[in-house]
Amino acid sequence: MSGLSSCAAQPALSRGRRHPEVTGPGRSEFQRDRDRIVHCTAFRRLEYKTQVFINHEGDLFRTRLTHSIEVAQIARTIARALQLDEDLTEAVALAHDLGHTPFGHAGQDALAQAMQPWGGFEHNLQSLRVVDELEQRYAAFDGLNLSFETREGILKRCPAAVAAQLGEVGERFVRGGSPCLEAQIANLADEIAYSNHDVDDGLRAGLISLDDLLPIELFARHCRQVDIAHPGLSERRRIHETIRRMINQLIVDLIAETRRRVLQSGADSLTAVRHCGPLAAFSPAIRRELTLLKQFLLERLYRHERVEAVMRAARDVVSELFDLYRAQPAHLPEEHHERAQRLGERAIADYIAGMTDRFAIRAHQQLTGRRLLDV
Ligand code: MG
Repeated sequence: MSGLSSCAAQPALSRGRRHPEVTGPGRSEFQRDRDRIVHCTAFRRLEYKTQVFINHEGDLFRTRLTHSIEVAQIARTIARALQLDEDLTEAVALAHDLGHTPFGHAGQDALAQAMQPWGGFEHNLQSLRVVDELEQRYAAFDGLNLSFETREGILKRCPAAVAAQLGEVGERFVRGGSPCLEAQIANLADEIAYSNHDVDDGLRAGLISLDDLLPIELFARHCRQVDIAHPGLSERRRIHETIRRMINQLIVDLIAETRRRVLQSGADSLTAVRHCGPLAAFSPAIRRELTLLKQFLLERLYRHERVEAVMRAARDVVSELFDLYRAQPAHLPEEHHERAQRLGERAIADYIAGMTDRFAIRAHQQLTGRRLLDV
């Protein structure tokens, strides 16, 4: 089967970095981006940030770091099959959650609410802020100075009014158009990764059961096939084997449907891809099944009372921290205090967003004398 190499982003034709750099031979520009992401501080912090289960609830649950690694693995597989640029796909996948707050979506919601009068807060936009401004590793510039294509992939959604202030990386949200296929693939790989590993983690935590999942056709079909091929399998292997097959089907479907759509569109270059609507996609039947699985996870796992109780406390930690630092900026570490004097509330949001779960819990306890969550 033919690949889509004519539509791939080419490192030598990159729209470049914000601060021009002279780079040596040996690695492509997108490989450099990927390597800069792996070495940055925000990447290591992902190890101690919540995916669904708060970091210290168990050693085997996904964290934002293992989630990002799984997304990168799935994205690379798809990119290779389609002959797209694997390094760029991997860079976008590894960076996609760098701006996530502690405590997953609960932290994001609390910070978004607190920041509403000052331009809001959105973790996706924050990921771009991390790589553009917040990392401090290079002598000559703030941030990681990544290539345009990686930055554009990280910014997967953005309100037009905000995008208008971001320069060329925000252009497509103002004028319309799509990012490179590598970014589109990384985005869908995220969906494949979390829909599957959250099933695994939810079962492991005992919040959902195999029986609960049987009305979900995507899961049930593969579970039936596993039972036929391997009767009498232990429950743990039965779950893993089912999830393994689900991931595989989603990947195979995405590869085939994306190839079909690109060929049908007639796009034969990155420029042409940019002028089309989204070309990376699941087939309609698989999209419907995946949506039902995601709906199940939303209702039965993410809104489970045990998850909600922790997340309510997490929201309080984040919003109380914000109010405390705002009322008494002297409590901020010196560097962040200095930034708050220049940038106001945005500096407080940057500081809180960068915290790991346990750092936020401890900071809150130190300032309030109350411990809302166990560390
Ligand atoms: Mg993600």
